[in-house]
Amino acid sequence: MYNAKAFSAASATSPLASTTIVRRDPTDTDVQMEILFCGICHSDLHQARNEWSGAMPTVYPCVPGHEIVGRVTKIGSAVTKFKTGDLAAVGCMVDSDGTCPECKDGLEQFCPNLTLTYNFPDKHTGGVTYGGYSDSVVVDERFVLRVPTNLDLAGVAPLLCAGITTFSPLHHWGVTKGKKVGIVGLGGLGHMGVKFAHALGAHVVLFTTSPNKKEDALRLGADEVVISKNADEMAKHAGSFDFILDCVSAEHDMNALLGLLRRDGNLCLVGAPEKPLSIAAFGLLFGRRSLSGSPIGGIAETQEMLDFCGKHNITADVEVIPIQKVNEAYERLLKSDVKYRFSIDMASLKSA
Ligand code: NAP
Ligand code: ZN
Repeated sequence: MYNAKAFSAASATSPLASTTIVRRDPTDTDVQMEILFCGICHSDLHQARNEWSGAMPTVYPCVPGHEIVGRVTKIGSAVTKFKTGDLAAVGCMVDSDGTCPECKDGLEQFCPNLTLTYNFPDKHTGGVTYGGYSDSVVVDERFVLRVPTNLDLAGVAPLLCAGITTFSPLHHWGVTKGKKVGIVGLGGLGHMGVKFAHALGAHVVLFTTSPNKKEDALRLGADEVVISKNADEMAKHAGSFDFILDCVSAEHDMNALLGLLRRDGNLCLVGAPEKPLSIAAFGLLFGRRSLSGSPIGGIAETQEMLDFCGKHNITADVEVIPIQKVNEAYERLLKSDVKYRFSIDMASLKSA
């Protein structure tokens, strides 16, 4: 065991603050990384403030962060994929049983014995897992990803959650050229959704509550932008979408979105608001529409996504901040004031 620097929340109402945590020494199959950048996902905020108390109650102290990119500092004797000095990345998962049907299909995100990167029982330490708001992390090599060397690292970090969470459902539900695709909410997830749907050749319509994001949405790859609070603008698109990816972090009108789907269209939820969303039955019945959800993606698909980003030169648009500004960043997330992901420069933790 060794001590690592980190930022943690001590309770649902306390701001994040500097702390020291204990990490395990690398085992034979582990990779130890120095963390260079960690993205701020809205899930970090939900979890730090215990907004998911029903499904995933928070254990304090909580060290969030699951968009991790860094450099390998040590490897176990059985590690084959990495060597010291390599770039490496870690997303939302750090372990799974490796033997269940889900793991065998490369869908570790559905493993019944999954370990998430933070706030999950840690079988090595006996406590809970601690995330990437830290100077280092130790992870089994099965859950460590290779990073294309041509990409800006601050913008790579958010790919590990915002990237894979949007890439996976777009692929799974067959978004390609000729499909009309809606992306709802231009935040961290939404802006990656726009980039990927555009790269896949779809006709992309971005739905936003923030009129000032219109120009950016077009620059990021949207073909059209709709201000979702404007009923006339929404009505023009009624019954026309093959697929809509809902990336919204708060309560909103799902029924208005269902009405935009064509026959057999699918509204896929990736946003995870604190409160339950309400659905009127006829929005689904008429048009035989589907409502679905999708959590992150498997490890093989995450690697595929990173390689795709390397090939197409795709990264997140980031505002790089020092860790000392993390609480301010959380408040700005709540005001939809992020363009379009905060990425923490972990060098700042040295002076914390
Ligand atoms: P984010 O950067 O804060 O973006 C959320 C966006 O939602 C905002 O920028 C805003 O976009 C829109 N929005 C916010 N409040 C709204 C409201 N009341 N009504 C309508 N639109 C609203 O958040 P994020 O990091 O992208 O995460 C989005 C959600 O996905 C969170 O709930 C997060 O926990 C969840 N998530 C799920 C997974 C998964 O595996 N499924 C993975 C990561 C995150 P506009 O300004 O354009 O309206
Ligand atoms: Zn996330």
